[in-house]
Amino acid sequence: MSALEKPVGSLKEVGSAREKAFREVGVETVGDLLRFFPTRHLDRATSLDAAQAWTRLVEGFEGEMTIVGEAVDMKTKYPRRREMLQVAFADEKGVFEAVWFRGAKFVKPRIEIGEWYAVGGKPSDPKRGVLQFAHPDFERMTDDESKRYHTGGLIPVYPKPRALKEGYLGEFSLRRIIKDALDRYGDEIEETLPREILERRELPDLARSIRDVHFPESREALDAATRRLKYEELFEFELAAALKRGEAKGRAGIAHKARAEELRAFVETLPFELTPSQREAFKAIYDDLRAPRPTHRLLHGDVGSGKTVVALLAAFVAVQNGYQVAFMAPTEILAAQHFQTIETLLDPYRRASGDPITVAFAAGGVNARAHRASREMIRSGHAKIVVGTHALFEESVEFANLGLAIVDEQHRFGVRQRLDLRKKGTAPDLLVMSATPIPRTLAMTLYGDLDVAAIKRSPKGRRPIVTAVRGENALPAVYEWVAERAKAGVQSYLVFPLVEESEKLPLKSVVKEYESLVATRLKGLRTGLLHGKMKWEEKEEAMRKFAAGEYDALATTTVVEVGVDVPTANIMIVHNAERFGLSQLHQLRGRVGRGKEKGYCVLIADDRIVADLERELPPLETASAAELDRYRAAIRMRAMIEERDGFKIAEIDLKLRGPGDYFGVRQSGAPQFRFANLREDFATLEAAKEDAFALAEKDPGLRSPEHAALRRSFAKRAHEKLEVAGAG
Ligand code: ADP
Ligand code: MG
Repeated sequence: MSALEKPVGSLKEVGSAREKAFREVGVETVGDLLRFFPTRHLDRATSLDAAQAWTRLVEGFEGEMTIVGEAVDMKTKYPRRREMLQVAFADEKGVFEAVWFRGAKFVKPRIEIGEWYAVGGKPSDPKRGVLQFAHPDFERMTDDESKRYHTGGLIPVYPKPRALKEGYLGEFSLRRIIKDALDRYGDEIEETLPREILERRELPDLARSIRDVHFPESREALDAATRRLKYEELFEFELAAALKRGEAKGRAGIAHKARAEELRAFVETLPFELTPSQREAFKAIYDDLRAPRPTHRLLHGDVGSGKTVVALLAAFVAVQNGYQVAFMAPTEILAAQHFQTIETLLDPYRRASGDPITVAFAAGGVNARAHRASREMIRSGHAKIVVGTHALFEESVEFANLGLAIVDEQHRFGVRQRLDLRKKGTAPDLLVMSATPIPRTLAMTLYGDLDVAAIKRSPKGRRPIVTAVRGENALPAVYEWVAERAKAGVQSYLVFPLVEESEKLPLKSVVKEYESLVATRLKGLRTGLLHGKMKWEEKEEAMRKFAAGEYDALATTTVVEVGVDVPTANIMIVHNAERFGLSQLHQLRGRVGRGKEKGYCVLIADDRIVADLERELPPLETASAAELDRYRAAIRMRAMIEERDGFKIAEIDLKLRGPGDYFGVRQSGAPQFRFANLREDFATLEAAKEDAFALAEKDPGLRSPEHAALRRSFAKRAHEKLEVAGAG
């Protein structure tokens, strides 16, 4: 057994209470302890003499410092009736003091008059006329440098979850325990990355890096160690994807037959010509379907680029081969729309060919009888295409022979759900559609386990949507315009951030605003209400009426964000627009201008933001962090006005927020890294990806002896990997 596998309780100073506390934060072995990393470091590298320190302080220095001095006096005082311990220190150049208002009991027995101590911390205001530290870290000077834990270098600050505090593991003891463990066992840390990669990427080895990330000898050493640990995280992340992908490629899947005749006949009955972009994307998917390995592909395209029909062509091929297809959407509304679209697109073909191609609808909200009937159709194999929501994942849905799963709006589906679905067929093909314009580079890197087919251009003839930002004070005029356009038959979406009013958020709610609009500004218009808290039938009804032109306006929330397609709706008003994500706004905007008429998107924002927009805003590339903070909202609104291309918007979003947030809480598959930050470390991610895929290609089972340590480290964290790699 490697010493690193010993229980943490085997270390001196770690009794059973502390062992238990460590266990609660996931530290079980010595190896785990060495990977209990600090969150930051205090710079106590330069120790000063008392005179230098004083000069610096009066010159306005505000950081930490360390001074070495002899304890010359110790007093307990009672200013304002509180106990205070005051210790005076001196070196050959001057004096300084340290005070404690708390913990005197701990400090007193540890300081002995006549001994020398290193005292480190941030000194108090020099106005008192003496250099004073409140609650500094301190330690007795000995000849043994290795026994310096808290002063005289870059000193680690560890996270302090409650469990540790309760186990009496404070800053001091943590530093001591970890440093002693490093000194004793640090050399046993095994290198996991191939030597060749370390050399080519100029990274320090793992043992050195782990040591330096705790107690670095210099800023440079800390930076190098951090760089190595970032690389390692990203490398293992990409390796998980690379291995998954290799495995998927090796697995036996369905080799669909071409059925070119039927396909051609179907395409001929479509109400429009496929664009070259759509053809190209479909070609890639078609090749996948016919290959004897499982399809595992991301179909990627901007809002309105026409992904649905491409996916339907894939479904058609699977159906012609005698398989069932599951077609899933994140919301009931969207599933219902897909169902409608598919029915409409299939109808002419059905009539021409006499082939019924039955489509079933399976969502959570439909009534019990319809529910049972559709389950039965799916089980018997009568239903060829099954359109639905997450309900499709329920155990009660059994497929006769599922051959292809199509998942729309992939970012709303968790990795787990993707896995669950795949359990429903032997090895069903998987086609994931994303309308959220992930920057292509990022998609390729994050979804390394999926092949990507992109629809690069939207169908021609669509006119750009006019986008404007208006302040709250322009609302009367905006609504006057909405009412006037309604008379000309133009429908509007009115989007609000909240369903119901909230005391915590000063934002508009659709329920309240709907009531007031109906009574005032939109009086006389036919206005519908649609939000996520309504019953399924009500939502369905509202959506149907709006699509049928029975409403002039629809007050709603972001439930209309994804995929809803009403070609006669051409005005999109978004309230509290600054509170929405850029990609979300782009999605909302994509709801209009889908027909022949020009589309308009009006973003209602805070008046202050509108004022900012009239100024010269700093360009995104050169904006400082402070400028970004100040003008973020205005920069985002400007991006909406100036950019139409979802990918460009996504790139801007990425720059403004970083990919972690970019995926947000919605993206349950988004990776969480301890060191790496995808915004800053994108180049590292690319490098790691290149290396990981090359390695997986060379040694797909990690069997070569030089990869043994990597395989072990990998196996140990395999569970986490599955979660982060989005591997389905
Ligand atoms: P998305 O990629 O956002 O899911 P959809 O598949 O909903 O886009 O397509 C958007 C609209 O474009 C739909 O109304 C659809 O009928 C239409 N459409 C799709 N392909 C074409 C095409 N080749 N030519 C004209 N219109 C098309
Ligand atoms: Mg869509």
